[in-house]
Amino acid sequence: IIEIQDLHKSFGDIEVLKGIDFTVNKGEVVSIIGSSGSGKSTLLRCINTLETFESGDVKIEGTSIKEMNPIDLHTRVGIVFQSFNLFGHLTVLENCVVAQRKVLKKSREEAEQIALELLEKVGMDSFKDAVPEQLSGGQKQRVAIARALAMNPEVLLFDEPTSALDPEMVGEVLEVMKNLATEGLTMLVVTHEMDFARSVSNKVVFMDGGVIVEEGEPEQIFLHPQHNRTKEFLSRVR
Ligand code: ATP
Ligand code: MG
Repeated sequence: IIEIQDLHKSFGDIEVLKGIDFTVNKGEVVSIIGSSGSGKSTLLRCINTLETFESGDVKIEGTSIKEMNPIDLHTRVGIVFQSFNLFGHLTVLENCVVAQRKVLKKSREEAEQIALELLEKVGMDSFKDAVPEQLSGGQKQRVAIARALAMNPEVLLFDEPTSALDPEMVGEVLEVMKNLATEGLTMLVVTHEMDFARSVSNKVVFMDGGVIVEEGEPEQIFLHPQHNRTKEFLSRVR
């Protein structure tokens, strides 16, 4: 569903992505792991056109994102950030309704019904009338996930969705993500949660210095890493 081909991206003179190739198939959960500065966020941002890139391509079901209407792309490929980015002046329900109304042109009734179902799925339906500042970090992130799902995306990107959370809230967000994986949602997840990467993903991609050093099934990467850089990284994070 996502094909990345020889993707290169620089900021000024510094090449941050040095030829990235990989594929995410429908229904797969792919985790991207790697040290700070290795280019993980930049990669996700390129996929969602939040950054431009110099060469290579990103295709969604065979169509280059350069040829896609940005609204269409953002509908089909959702993103959940570390910092939630909820609309602070809107209620939880309204956060999940606005884009359905504005972009998908849904009626208020239908948009609210979908929003409520999704809020129930992430365990946040009883907070529908709250505003974000009344919520804990874990609750905000669960609302952000419901909001992303409200667009009915074909694939959801996550950029360290639990890194800004207090430790006791990490579990509730990972639980929601695990359920989505079980339901067959296609997900590409940048994460420092090695247990999640190991137990939930179909494929793990290890990035270092703007390249993919190694990718494979979780067992392969965690139990039998082939490259020294992978081994060093794993020994540091475990
Ligand atoms: P982290 O684990 O800390 O989130 P990351 O793997 O997501 O790291 P990126 O945020 O993709 O790394 O950054 C990769 C490199 O690109 C870093 O050296 C960073 O300083 C640089 N970089 C990222 N965004 C910009 C920008 N807007 N302008 C200039 N340099 C940038
Ligand atoms: Mg990052």
